[in-house]
Amino acid sequence: MSDLLPLSGMIKGEILASVPMSDYTSFRVGGRVDYLAFPSDIQDLQKILGWCKQRGVRYFVLGNGTNLLVRDGGVRGMAISLSRGFLCLEEVGGGPEENLILAEAGGPLGKLVEFSSEKGLAGMEFAAGIPGTVGGAIFMNAGAFKEEMKGVLHSVRLMDPEGNIAEKGKNQLRFSYRSLEVEKGAVILGAQFRLRPENGQKVKAKVEENIRWRRAKQPWDLPSAGSVFKNPVQGPAGRFVEEAGLKGSRIGDAQVSEQHANFIVNRGKARARDILALVEIIREKVFKEKGVWLETEIQVVGED
Ligand SMILES: Cc1cc2nc3c(=O)[nH]c(=O)nc-3n(C[C@H](O)[C@H](O)[C@H](O)COP(=O)(O)OP(=O)(O)OC[C@H]3O[C@@H](n4cnc5c(N)ncnc54)[C@H](O)[C@@H]3O)c2cc1C
Repeated sequence: MSDLLPLSGMIKGEILASVPMSDYTSFRVGGRVDYLAFPSDIQDLQKILGWCKQRGVRYFVLGNGTNLLVRDGGVRGMAISLSRGFLCLEEVGGGPEENLILAEAGGPLGKLVEFSSEKGLAGMEFAAGIPGTVGGAIFMNAGAFKEEMKGVLHSVRLMDPEGNIAEKGKNQLRFSYRSLEVEKGAVILGAQFRLRPENGQKVKAKVEENIRWRRAKQPWDLPSAGSVFKNPVQGPAGRFVEEAGLKGSRIGDAQVSEQHANFIVNRGKARARDILALVEIIREKVFKEKGVWLETEIQVVGED
């Protein structure tokens, strides 16, 4: 911690030491991260990245931890959260057929959905109920109902590991299924979204319908990180897991959800190693019985 003091004094935000990642992830598992930084603005973030570079400290950006599995040994280095300083959400322009909304990366994706529907702007309804931050959703190219973030993005603002900032138009960015390719160590600062004017009641009704669908189909009462596997080209991952007879399978307190076979839920005291062991069992059985190799959608960080 003493090593951190000079940095703590240099920034307006806060830096915590030895923080349990189970408090910051929706799976509620994971060991401690050495440092957790909450920059309050661009200058803070530049100082933090500079400090990490100077000392050879590894870092990663933490969104809301809803797609993250942190191993039980925790993470060496620094987690950086934009949740306290990068929250701006405003309309920045547009014309009769489209409006541009600026959303900074640290704010909840749900707030962007709500803001858009209150303004009578359509396009974000698919994202209703996807937990997490705007930054996490962009990095993951989050999606649902055959739509994804790529479809509504106009441009993304990024900081590279040297602290330089660049605005990239959608056409300069490479998206794929549940991923946006960015330089290693780059931080997504925010984005502009291109939305179209629509009857406000219609937008709100769609948002509510999508949330109702999620509550009915997905396990919301137990900790999870959403879909564990990406859907392979052959069909929905959950269907293969179910057909392999794995619904309800359990290692310790990690269990394949009875409600949605592509979710693993934490029934109380699951450890990351239980979840990872279950992931391997699922992969091998699905491969053996269905000939399909499932790739994980959840991001795994840290050490055993
Ligand atoms: C109940 C439930 C339902 C879900 N449903 C869906 C769904 O329908 N569709 C879907 O796509 N996902 C779904 N998810 C998964 C998850 O919510 C999304 O992937 C979400 O977008 C992750 O955002 P986050 O802020 O929590 O990111 P985190 O989990 O914190 O991070 C995810 C990755 O993004 C990186 N990252 C985060 N912020 C930044 C940033 N500012 N700059 C650079 N990198 C960054 C992290 O380093 C990490 O690699 C669901 C999860 C749960 C728990």
